[in-house]
Amino acid sequence: MAAGIRLISTDFDGTLVGHPSDGRCVPSLARALAEFKASGGLWAINTGRSLPHIIEGIAILDAPVQPDFLVTHEQEIHHRGSAGEWRDFGDWNAVCRARHTELFRRAAPIFQRVRSLVSAAADVTLIEEKDRPTGLITTDELVMDRVVAGIEAMRSTVPGFHYQRNTIYLRFCHADYHKGSALGELCRLTGVSRDETFAIGDHFNDLSMLDGRYARNVACPANAIPEVRAAVTAAGGRIADAPFGEGTARALDAVAQKKPAVAW
Ligand SMILES: [Mg+2]
Repeated sequence: MAAGIRLISTDFDGTLVGHPSDGRCVPSLARALAEFKASGGLWAINTGRSLPHIIEGIAILDAPVQPDFLVTHEQEIHHRGSAGEWRDFGDWNAVCRARHTELFRRAAPIFQRVRSLVSAAADVTLIEEKDRPTGLITTDELVMDRVVAGIEAMRSTVPGFHYQRNTIYLRFCHADYHKGSALGELCRLTGVSRDETFAIGDHFNDLSMLDGRYARNVACPANAIPEVRAAVTAAGGRIADAPFGEGTARALDAVAQKKPAVAW
């Protein structure tokens, strides 16, 4: 096994594929993923996308190998069933859903306030599913900065209330559920240790899996936001000198070759 890495957790948008791009896997990444899988490694895509949306993305990616696990909405863990279908892995998802139902019931005053604020803001759109707000979309990232400041000011009124931010998208969630904690559970379920785990991502919603707590080996592509670059550096990880899929390929190659964290 390359450098003792048995499990890789990769973000999808901005990490495996660029934006804008045609969504196809670049040749260097295709090779690096194929080599890692050929060495017996496990591959998890850890994304903010929904399950149908990431399945669609994987089809367009057209990589030579397939992921073993999917973490969707930054919280739910899936593995392949015997017929190739994606299934809940363990009871994590059921507990996750129950805890969110309980949280969002308590969060009704926050949602009422958010609805009121959004109705007066032309640059923010509220996403609702089943009569409950699930998240927000803003016209640009500066608007999202303002939205996040507003939510930060009110979230302490409901213990456990938090959010995941990714570019112009924000999703409401329980503070205990994020890419990092989902990766920790995936390690527990697969018997892979933190030292044998590698994670890579580019944006705010990746920070929880890049601080070294759940994966000993971390990296980001060159397009990562400054906050991610800082977290990766603090955790002794690597900042690739190429963006998106090319950067991820270089990070995987460096980990496989046990290159030092600097000078690459
Ligand atoms: Mg991303």
